[in-house]
Amino acid sequence: RTIYLNGSWVDEADAKVSVFDRGFLFADAIYEVTAVIDGKLIDYAGHAARLRRSLDALRTAMPVSEDELLELHKDIARRNGIKEGLIYLQITRGVQDRDFVFPPDMQPTVVMFTQQKRVLDNPKWKTGLALQSVAEGRWSQRQIKTVQLLYSSLMKTEAHRQGYDDVLFVEDGYVTEASSANFHIVTPEGAVVTRDLSNALLHGITRGSILDLAQKAGLAAEERLFTLDEAKSATEAFLTSATSFVTPVVSLDGNRIGTGEVGPVSRRLLDVYIRENLERGVP
Ligand code: PMP
Repeated sequence: RTIYLNGSWVDEADAKVSVFDRGFLFADAIYEVTAVIDGKLIDYAGHAARLRRSLDALRTAMPVSEDELLELHKDIARRNGIKEGLIYLQITRGVQDRDFVFPPDMQPTVVMFTQQKRVLDNPKWKTGLALQSVAEGRWSQRQIKTVQLLYSSLMKTEAHRQGYDDVLFVEDGYVTEASSANFHIVTPEGAVVTRDLSNALLHGITRGSILDLAQKAGLAAEERLFTLDEAKSATEAFLTSATSFVTPVVSLDGNRIGTGEVGPVSRRLLDVYIRENLERGVP
């Protein structure tokens, strides 16, 4: 693969970052993942906007202009022949001799790579996911998309070992989100319910788009707290994320959700999301 590293295009074998990079030593880095379908960038504007918010939270200036950022996304997809897959972008604070205190003027490290992936061919869309609830154990600033993903990675790996697809984090009895996706339920009355935005969860770009699409489709949408018990008695549940779009959840801690099969609301939102984005995607 051809990697973008600090203004240069390099082969992945030559893409090297210093051991003194604060991304490596302190997880002092943020990232974005944008899906590509049919050579088009999906929900690009949302991802670019959240990147800016994450950098602001780290008190780091945007290292490239908005126009350059878009061109880099198009260019890396083209250079790697990506028609379907994803583009990963990471920005770290940069390189400094190890010190908790960082100066204000560091030169950020910018890395981009692609992954070829058949994002439109997801077997879990047919079968649905089995989730396991676990205690929320991440830091309290989850609205920032940092690379500090260790707890999520440990918990998801353990869940896999036990036969689950993913974990669902629960804090004070309330659901926050899954390891790398937002979690939503459909109530017996047919409303889509998702947790309201705060520092407790990542403000998913797909989450925002799906809420808009649900409302356009005439579904009631509520943004509020909900408990693990409410999730267990939901009619349907689903996850949203940039590369899996809308993925149905059919069981939670071994208990069926609804019929235990992929529900009509989840299926419809998935179809509408893909259709809308193929029309709206940035070519
Ligand atoms: N929550 C977490 C913790 C995530 O890591 C992600 C994305 N990987 C999401 C939610 C979904 O966000 P988006 O729709 O922007 O991909």
